[in-house]
Amino acid sequence: MDHNDKDAQILDQYKSQHKGLAARLGHIGFIWGGSVQSQRTKCGKPGCACSQDPQARHGPYVYWTSKKKGRTVARLLHPPEAEILTEWVGNRREVDRILEEMKKLSQKAYKVMLRVRLREMKG
Ligand SMILES: [Zn+2]
Repeated sequence: MDHNDKDAQILDQYKSQHKGLAARLGHIGFIWGGSVQSQRTKCGKPGCACSQDPQARHGPYVYWTSKKKGRTVARLLHPPEAEILTEWVGNRREVDRILEEMKKLSQKAYKVMLRVRLREMKG
């Protein structure tokens, strides 16, 4: 098998992996930025058990947080908001992961494709 056949085979492999990733993207639902985290808090009222006992802390409260110009903004979420946004932030994380995989795969494909083109130029 010559170099061109071998590279063509590698490229086909990368293409089908890339298609697989694109298909996964196609099935993802709505996406949302930032992150969702839950926290149990101390209220600061004198005599409240929460100040001493970690088990007596209030909550959990669910927050949506995001970075804006380097500062973290946080918003308290009601249960239905938390439910929706937890799912959508999860979807966005999946999109991020898939895009990273696509970029890595594309870099590998680029090297092979460039090699093929350069050989073609030399004739
Ligand atoms: Zn308290």
